[in-house]
Amino acid sequence: MTGEEWDTIVVGAGVLGCATAYHLKRTDPDRSVLLLDRNERPAMGNTRRSVALFRDLFTSATNRDLATSTIAFFDHLEGELGHKLGLRRFGYYWMLGAERLRTLEDSLAALGGKGLDLEVHDEGEVRAMLGDNLAVSPRAPEGRGPMEPVAGAVLARNAGTLSPTSLTRFYEERFRAMGGEVEYGLRVERLVPESLRGGHVRVWEDAHVTAVEGPDGRRRAKGIVVAAGAWTPHLVEPLGIDSHVQPQTRQAFGLVGDGPKGLLERNGFPGGELPVLVLPAAGVYLKPIRSQGMVLAGCADGFGRPYGLEDDPQPEEGFLDGQIRPVLEGYLPGMRRAGVRVSWAGQYHYNTMDGNPFVFRTSNVTVVAGASGSGIMKSDAIGRVATATSLGQGEAELFGGRRIRVSDLGVRDRKVEPEDLMI
Ligand SMILES: Cc1cc2nc3c(=O)[nH]c(=O)nc-3n(C[C@H](O)[C@H](O)[C@H](O)COP(=O)(O)OP(=O)(O)OC[C@H]3O[C@@H](n4cnc5c(N)ncnc54)[C@H](O)[C@@H]3O)c2cc1C
Repeated sequence: MTGEEWDTIVVGAGVLGCATAYHLKRTDPDRSVLLLDRNERPAMGNTRRSVALFRDLFTSATNRDLATSTIAFFDHLEGELGHKLGLRRFGYYWMLGAERLRTLEDSLAALGGKGLDLEVHDEGEVRAMLGDNLAVSPRAPEGRGPMEPVAGAVLARNAGTLSPTSLTRFYEERFRAMGGEVEYGLRVERLVPESLRGGHVRVWEDAHVTAVEGPDGRRRAKGIVVAAGAWTPHLVEPLGIDSHVQPQTRQAFGLVGDGPKGLLERNGFPGGELPVLVLPAAGVYLKPIRSQGMVLAGCADGFGRPYGLEDDPQPEEGFLDGQIRPVLEGYLPGMRRAGVRVSWAGQYHYNTMDGNPFVFRTSNVTVVAGASGSGIMKSDAIGRVATATSLGQGEAELFGGRRIRVSDLGVRDRKVEPEDLMI
C-alpha cells in the first residue's frame, strides 16, 4: 500500500490495458501512470487465449479504421522498430451463402473502392481455390437442418496472424521505459467511489472514484481506466456503470491428420498458401498453422451459449464433436477423423449490440470494453481512443494520422455502423 496518488491507474494488463498505458505515457510523459494486473505478467488473461488473427475486412467504417491503422502499426513495429511480432499475412477467405452474398455485395464492392485489398469470388472461383477439398452443397447429418451451399467468397489479403504476447510485451516494456509503473499479482476487489467533497457518495453530489481497493489496501488515483477485459462488468457495474458488454466463452481446437494436411498442401490459393477459411454456417472458421501441419477450428456460437464470467473456461469436446465437426465435415469432407492436438477456451467481452468496441468515460472512470473477437487486431487504435477519452480530448489520432471522434465509440453520442462480419 502507498499514500501516493497517481494521475491514472489502468486496471488490466492485457493488450488493451497495455496499449492504453503506453499511449497515455507517450501522449503525456509527465503523467504518473500505474498499470495493475492480478496475474504475474502482462497478457495472461484472454489476450493469451486468442487465436491471434488480424484482418481489415469489416463492414463498419469505424471497425475498419481501428483495424487498418492497427495493422499498419504492426508493420511499423516489425519493419521499422525491429520488434518481432511473428507477423504473417495469408489472408481470409470468407465464404458466403447466396442470401448473405446478395446482402453484402454492395458493401463489399464499396470496400474495394475504399482501398481494401480484396477480391470477390463466385462459386466457380471458390471451387478453383479449394478443389475437391470442398463440398459446395454440404450434407448435414441425418435428420438435422440443412447447411447453406457456398455461393461465393471474399478474399481479404491484408490479414493474417501475429503474436499477441509479443505485441502486449512491446507496449508494456515501452510504457515502463517511459517511467510508467506496474504492479502485478494485485487483484482489484473494487473501485472506491467518493463524493467530490470527500466521504460517502450523496445522491445530490458529484462523485468520482478515488482509489482501487485490493486485499492489502487502496491505491489512489485522479483517474481510472478499466481495461479488465471480460472482468470489466464485474468491476464497473457495482458502481452503477453499465459496461454494455457481456462475457461469453469461445473455444479453439487444433486439428491434425490427413484432412488438415490436404487443405494445407493442396489448394489453389496463390503460392499454395491457405488463408483463414470462414464457412457459411455458424461462423465456423479454420486458421492454418502450416509449420505444425495443423488447422485451428473455432465457431461463433451465439444463441445457446450463455453469457457469464468464467475465470478459467475449459474447451468442451462435446461442442467440437456435436457442433463444429458436422459443419466442418459438411463443407470439407476430408476433415473427417481429424485428431485434436490442442484445445483451449477463453472469453470475449462481447458487444451484443453493434460489434464495435465501447470506450467511454463516466465521471473519472474510462471504460474500455466490447472488443469482442477482435481486440488484438484493433488494439493500437483502441489504446489511442482510450487515452484521448481518459484525457478528456474530443479526438484521437490513429497510427497513420487519421483522426477519429472519441464519442463515436462512446454511449451517449455513439456513431458506428453495425458490423456484419463477426466471428
Ligand atoms: C478463443 C478466442 C479467440 C480470439 N481470437 C482473436 C483473434 O483472432 N484476433 C483478435 O484480435 N482477437 C481475438 N480474440 C479476442 C481477444 O482475445 C480480445 O479482444 C483481447 O485479448 C482483449 O484484450 P483485453 O486487454 O481487453 O483483455 P484481457 O487480455 O483479458 O486483459 C484483461 C486483464 O485484466 C486483468 N484483470 C481482470 N480483472 C482484474 C482485477 N479485478 N484486478 C486486476 N486485474 C484484473 C486480467 O488478469 C487480464 O490480464 C479472441 C478471444 C478468444 C477468447
